[in-house]
Amino acid sequence: MASTVRPKVRSTIHEFDLIDALHRRHSRRTPLVIQGIGDDAAVVTSRAGQWTVLTTDLLTEGIHFDLRTATMADIGFRAAAANLSDVAAMGATPQYLLAALAIPRSGGSSHQVFQLYRGMMAACRPHHVHLIGGDTSASSGGWFLSLTLIGMVPPRKALFRNGARIGDCLYVTGTIGDALAGLKLLSEPPPRTKRLPRAAALSARYRQFLIGRHLRPTARIAEGRWLSTHRFATSAIDISDGLSGDLRHICEESHVGADIDLSALPLSPACRAYATSRKLDPAYLALTGGEDYELLFTVSPRQRPRLERTAIEQGFSLTRIGTIHPLRFGVQTLSARGQRHQLINTSYEHFT
Ligand code: ADP
Ligand code: MG
Repeated sequence: MASTVRPKVRSTIHEFDLIDALHRRHSRRTPLVIQGIGDDAAVVTSRAGQWTVLTTDLLTEGIHFDLRTATMADIGFRAAAANLSDVAAMGATPQYLLAALAIPRSGGSSHQVFQLYRGMMAACRPHHVHLIGGDTSASSGGWFLSLTLIGMVPPRKALFRNGARIGDCLYVTGTIGDALAGLKLLSEPPPRTKRLPRAAALSARYRQFLIGRHLRPTARIAEGRWLSTHRFATSAIDISDGLSGDLRHICEESHVGADIDLSALPLSPACRAYATSRKLDPAYLALTGGEDYELLFTVSPRQRPRLERTAIEQGFSLTRIGTIHPLRFGVQTLSARGQRHQLINTSYEHFT
């Protein structure tokens, strides 16, 4: 039935040449990879007794990224960072990457594919993650990118969402709300067509920082490993849907409630300046903004002094933002004026 078989990629891109080029550009020799790109499947060996961590993500043009506001390299970088962040949230070390790609039959070019991989590998390189395979197809619509990341963690050291206990302290790494501010900045009409009032002016440095936090997020790999090696965290998750939604995941999985002290939320100066200039509540950005890819985790109060002391030694930025309570407490916010509210779930949903 050869006549019914359509080429997987439009004819101007030669699939095998493309794979060959990706192989030459991005495959590296490592003792643990027995067979990388080039056979029917990759073969890896592992250190005895280690647990394997696996995660996969599918990104769709128009849903997860917009080629009008991000370059192919940005899209690749962010896709890899999102997967790296999932591995970080498990307390694991990322090792191998598989990338499956559908290239638009009309308009997709091999140059764009190379740019995409350039971004992807830029996010992976600091963590010595090796590209060991993937798949290449054509799309009758937009781009699709699916990444699968494989990592390792010593036995019984993996961090899960379900270990939070009543009385535990709730922490977050870095600053939150930046990525949503960056995304909002990218979606605003360009200042030349619609003169923004004076208050809307934001310094170029802040603008660049916030957009960078959206397009090129940092996965907290070192922090995740540190939390697992020292057994500091009783539970952990990465913030990919927004603090309010991701905290809810920890609470549901651990059968507990929690409160967040809104005045303690770690907000960057750029995020504060953005919120002021757009008359937004920065706490709203921090609670609802997904894709900061910071880690949210719980720590027993007994571990707190050691955690905070060694965080400083390691140069990690952590902020205590709340406490774990019994389930019946629900998830509450505590305002700077001491008012309590039940937190409504405002995180991102695909199908609503
Ligand atoms: P098969 O038809 O047996 O699935 P492919 O031609 O799809 O084989 O793949 C050949 C090799 O190239 C495999 O090692 C596969 O993992 C790798 N590969 C294919 N597409 C990609 C891609 N987009 N990125 C990285 N590796 C790829
Ligand atoms: Mg294949």
